Amino acid sequence: MTGGRPAVLDGAPRFADPVPVTRPTLAVDAALLREIQRILESGMLTGGRLVAEFEAAVAEYLGVAHVVAVSSCTTGLLLTLQAVTQGGTAILPSFTFMATGHAVLWAGLTPVFADCTADTYTLDPAAARVDEGTALVLAVHAFGVPCAADALAAGAAPHGVPLVVDAAHAFGSRYPDGAMAGTKGTAEVFSLSPTKSLAVGEGGLVTTSSAQLAAHLRTAREYGNPGDYDARFAGLNGRLTEINAAIGLAALRRLPERLAQRTALAQRYRDRLESLPGLGFQAVPPGAYTVHKDFTIAVDPAGFGLTSVQLAAALRCEGVDTRRYFDPPLHRQVAYRRGDADLPDLPNTERLSRTLLTLPLYAHLPERVVDEICQAVTRIYDAREPIREKLQHRDGDAWTT
Ligand SMILES: *Cc1c(COP(=O)(O)O)cnc(C)c1O
Repeated sequence: MTGGRPAVLDGAPRFADPVPVTRPTLAVDAALLREIQRILESGMLTGGRLVAEFEAAVAEYLGVAHVVAVSSCTTGLLLTLQAVTQGGTAILPSFTFMATGHAVLWAGLTPVFADCTADTYTLDPAAARVDEGTALVLAVHAFGVPCAADALAAGAAPHGVPLVVDAAHAFGSRYPDGAMAGTKGTAEVFSLSPTKSLAVGEGGLVTTSSAQLAAHLRTAREYGNPGDYDARFAGLNGRLTEINAAIGLAALRRLPERLAQRTALAQRYRDRLESLPGLGFQAVPPGAYTVHKDFTIAVDPAGFGLTSVQLAAALRCEGVDTRRYFDPPLHRQVAYRRGDADLPDLPNTERLSRTLLTLPLYAHLPERVVDEICQAVTRIYDAREPIREKLQHRDGDAWTT
């Protein structure tokens, strides 16, 4: 026992100030402030030297030939998909953030959802079956755990189908063979938004070994204008700003320290929660490394005595913010549904979206807070029966908002 009644049963909440599920850890040092001042004084807010410097630093860090900085991961995905496909279907996981699917729709492709594996939560190569209509395989590094890029590429390449990876969650992750996320497939696309491992504000990075694709993307992010004002195709304003690039350069210098903090906190959670019945954890393939964009537990109600929805409700009473990523999964969202009869059969996706719960994790989250969250989960488990009684009518979508 860890003492005291859970707040959901009218005990005192663990945290007077709610713990957010994530926060960017920003290095606000004198060098960065000077750089931002220089940008403001120069009047070069976009298209200056810092975006190019940031791209070069990322290329060196990842060990990839070309890096094109863009205004968001969604934009980077859209421009990349437009460049490498000409209509057809795209195989992608349903267990992902909505932007993965939206890029497919914006690029004029038809989504075909495939299941993820039960243990890594990434696109299952056995389920990603390429046929004559397939234009693209779009995989995702789920919560930082790298997708099975080699197996997916082996299934796609013989048919001339490109593999693109939505790497939004995984800046700093590594594949089982030691290669950095960002070095496989036709292209990988990272997000630099505040909830991701390299946070600059808004931004994205497309990485590729293809000089031709990189050159195309540099034109695409400039409205399709290669510089002579004779647009070659309908591009977008997809540029990263100079200030965001300056923040990115500073964040990249601190990344190893930040990732070590995230890894230690995730391990701390695991050490403290592992012994509770009914809780499971995302598997990391042997040799791979995850940046833990999120720390997520799988709550099996048969073992734990409460559902993920009920645990989330009880934690909210304690002042702990959580997320139920990804519920609903894409194939159940209004934008993607084509009637109940057409729902694809995705058993792992369905189970994960019902059972997963993301707990707070960010680099500067104090260890003490992790310990207290784990104590709160334990207290809730110990009182699972009265809590279930109290929350039994609240295990539905209504309680999640
Ligand atoms: C955050 C996220 C995106 C979108 O990134 P933006 O930079 O906000 O466009 C795309 N895919 C996944 C899996 C994400 O989590």
